Amino acid sequence: MQQINKRSMVLWFLWAAIVPAGLYLTYQFYPPPEMDAWNVLAFTVLAILTSLMPLNINGTPMYLVQCVTIALFLKYGIFAEVLLSQLTVLVLLFRSRSSAPRSQRLPFNSLMFFVVSIIAGVTYMKLGGEIGSLDLVHVIAFGMIYEIVSIGANHLFLYLDDAIMGNDKSFFSLDTIWDFAITLLVFPYAITLYITEAYIGWAALLLLGIPFLMVAGLLQMYSSSEKVNIDLKKAGEIGHQLAARLSTDEVLDQFVIQVSDLLKSDYAYVIDYRDSQLQMLRMYEDNRFVDLNVPAVRYNKGIGGNVVVTGTSVIYNKKKEWADIASGYIPDDAESIMCTPVARNNKIEGVLLIASRKKYAYVDHQLQILDILSTYFAVSLEKAGYVQKAIAKSERCGLTGLYNYRYLDELLEKTMNRVKRGDLKNLSLVMMDIDHFKSINDTYGHQSGNDILIELARILEAEVGNEGTVARYGGEEFVILFPNYGKDLTMLFAEALRKKIEKHDFMIKNDLGTERMAMAVHITLSIGVSTAPDDSDEPNALIRNADRALYIGAKQAGRNKVAAYAK
Ligand code: GH3
Ligand code: MG
Ligand code: MG
Repeated sequence: MQQINKRSMVLWFLWAAIVPAGLYLTYQFYPPPEMDAWNVLAFTVLAILTSLMPLNINGTPMYLVQCVTIALFLKYGIFAEVLLSQLTVLVLLFRSRSSAPRSQRLPFNSLMFFVVSIIAGVTYMKLGGEIGSLDLVHVIAFGMIYEIVSIGANHLFLYLDDAIMGNDKSFFSLDTIWDFAITLLVFPYAITLYITEAYIGWAALLLLGIPFLMVAGLLQMYSSSEKVNIDLKKAGEIGHQLAARLSTDEVLDQFVIQVSDLLKSDYAYVIDYRDSQLQMLRMYEDNRFVDLNVPAVRYNKGIGGNVVVTGTSVIYNKKKEWADIASGYIPDDAESIMCTPVARNNKIEGVLLIASRKKYAYVDHQLQILDILSTYFAVSLEKAGYVQKAIAKSERCGLTGLYNYRYLDELLEKTMNRVKRGDLKNLSLVMMDIDHFKSINDTYGHQSGNDILIELARILEAEVGNEGTVARYGGEEFVILFPNYGKDLTMLFAEALRKKIEKHDFMIKNDLGTERMAMAVHITLSIGVSTAPDDSDEPNALIRNADRALYIGAKQAGRNKVAAYAK
């Protein structure tokens, strides 16, 4: 901020030192000939209109106002041209979407146009150029000199400014070539305007001005419909990409990244609407995600709140338009804002807010693109939610809520790979089977058997905690995977578990009795243990070994025992 202020001050100082005095001197040295007021007015109107209608070439505006200022120069000389150029500075200033503050751009552009006008004009005069000449060869030759000096001076000015500001740019760039190419377009037009005007008066301005403005208008319409097409195509691609994401987190991340890229935004936020509050879900600033330590606001507060309440999208062109309604977090230097509801089944679930440091950064068609994108987004989010639920379901056992055989198999394979790579030193597998479980079912009923399985599952989870993963491997068989547990430690765990279960009162309601009395039942576990890489480093072998230890070492040895695999 400080630097901006300093630059503004320097620029205004230079402006005050050069422009007013320069104007006075110009008037003294090159007094304008007598001017017809109507004629000057017609030139001025045409200059303003051409400033308002730039030709849009690949998104870069090309101002052809020079046609008019050159014609005016040839007719009335330096002083008139300087005044008209300064007027166009004002017009361009108020229509431009540059992010630099006006306090800088006004003195900068005014000074630049002034210096360029003076250098080109004085060169023209000193080399013998005549004002108001009707000799075609003279007009073309000296007009060309004027134009080339003017472009050169303009370039030099910008180059020096870049150099002073520390931006390293080469003097000849693509811009230079563009400038000269545009000259080829501007120059004949300026000469024609001048000559025709000299013969038929201000009607020439109408005759040449109207088709020119029409072409500019048509080109503008064409380039904006072209832009809509490109944006629509990109939106379609983004939609496909979103639909391909399978987790809600991925959908959210992709959406934010893609939208802020497509709509050239400095900031993008996805805000969740839940429990009457608006809470940030994602914050993306200058192409990276930032931490979410931002307090929630009430659902009807701020720019997002307005969008939630009205259900319609908005564009703000500059800070002044939204400063009064903003509430909660918004970056200080944001200017343009576009905000749209994210709805699912006609219910608003949140809002997307994007912002730019530039004024007038967004146009209406982008709002429609954003609407389409947020529909893609909502649908993809819903789909990813279902997928995630389905995956979670397919990994779990319906009765106990523990992981199932399929999940364990995959986890075992992945974890074993870590052992093979050397990322993990050990991996132990505990397999257990309830002893005589069939007789429990037979005595107390299947439902009571289920209750015992559920309670056992909870005990296993509590005992294992974050140290390993518990899965229901089959009917009354359970498996625990312990990454980083060696055989001794696992045996200690298994023995402690066996003792705990042996003593535990499993509370059931006897299904088969007449009164369904609550009662305590006792069960015992037979447990087998195997360890990688000691016993084997193949997933299947680790299971087979634990199974063998369980049946031979524990079941056959009398049940309620722990056995380790022995080769
Ligand atoms: P042991 O393992 O000590 O040799 O005897 P067991 O009776 O436990 O072994 P067996 O393999 O013969 O029987 C396992 C029983 O577990 C059969 C079945 O009734 C019971 N079972 C398996 N899954 C479930 C279940 O989901 N719920 C209930 N209640 N019982 C189940
Ligand atoms: Mg069994
Ligand atoms: Mg059994």
